[in-house]
Amino acid sequence: MKFEAAVLGKVGGRLEVQTLEMAPLEPGDVLVRLHATGLCHTDLEVIQGSLAYPMPIVLGHEGAGVVEKVGKAVTAVKPGEHVVCSWNPHCGHCFYCERGLPILCEPHTRHQPRGRLLDGTIRMHRDGEPVHHFFETSTHARYTVLPESGAIPVPPELPFDRACIIGCGVMTGIGAVVRKARVEAGSSVAVIGAGAVGLNAIQGARLVDAGRIIALDVSAERRSRALAFGATDAIDAAAPDAAEQVRGLTAGRGADYVIESAGHKSAFRLSVEAVRPGGQVVWLGKINVDEEVPFRWGSLMGEKRIVRSSYGDAMPRRDFPWIAREYMAGRVKLDELITRRIGLGEINEGFDALARGEGIRTVVELQ
Ligand SMILES: [Zn+2]
Ligand SMILES: [Zn+2]
Repeated sequence: MKFEAAVLGKVGGRLEVQTLEMAPLEPGDVLVRLHATGLCHTDLEVIQGSLAYPMPIVLGHEGAGVVEKVGKAVTAVKPGEHVVCSWNPHCGHCFYCERGLPILCEPHTRHQPRGRLLDGTIRMHRDGEPVHHFFETSTHARYTVLPESGAIPVPPELPFDRACIIGCGVMTGIGAVVRKARVEAGSSVAVIGAGAVGLNAIQGARLVDAGRIIALDVSAERRSRALAFGATDAIDAAAPDAAEQVRGLTAGRGADYVIESAGHKSAFRLSVEAVRPGGQVVWLGKINVDEEVPFRWGSLMGEKRIVRSSYGDAMPRRDFPWIAREYMAGRVKLDELITRRIGLGEINEGFDALARGEGIRTVVELQ
């Protein structure tokens, strides 16, 4: 079948909406007609070149739509179901899957960085040439094919624009707090970086009834958004005494939990300065993989636990429907996260705005 997709041909290039050819479904494939897709910072990293992927490629890994067709071996979803894409399809039986770490699934980590699906192959072509998949989802398109474990059913009452953002930014932020750090009620949580992921970490802290929720960001606009999403305090992350201010709000000890979601060297350093001895740090942000980050050795001492997480320990089949229900019950804000809606033809303008740091999430409406 033919379908339209936004194709990136080279680093630093513009996305071009082109007609591609999708290969027939393999037995484990799910074909989804996408209705909405978000623009995530990770997509921008590929455009800008700090994250290397083979080209040409169809970016996008936050998507929601309707299952159009399934391969003959698929049992977990059926045509007509509403789904949110998970960018962590996994085999379910490799070394890491068997240890409860689907994010490290061996076929996934082997093939995904090479722009391929879980089985190592490619479904998309342009004039006979392969076009690479991104995060096994490639949602900046009107259709996508993904492995069964990447198509997660959600309640049909959930609007597609709000559904799509659950697939990355919302899951990662809420998951970092609820699943990865397992923050207890009454604990203090500091969140560094109040962008799309950080705001969701703040929402996660509110969901588990954390006590003090301290947002740190260099932008006054983002600090005020953080307060609207449930932070109890906001601190300028650029202030030389930012860690001292966190200690001032936490009986002089530092926060029980620090979630880093800014993706800057200074934020990684601040995270370990601001956590209390024995506390837990979760790093969500990322910088170029070859960069080095210097730490003050003393800031790493004191029995601190530091962990990096890409997807907030997501178990999408468990967590996406849960977040959808929390939204429908009024306990998670999704409407307020979407600050711009565009068509597929405006996708470059959407990324330009993301590069300028404008808004929270831009959603492309596809149908
Ligand atoms: Zn993302
Ligand atoms: Zn696996």
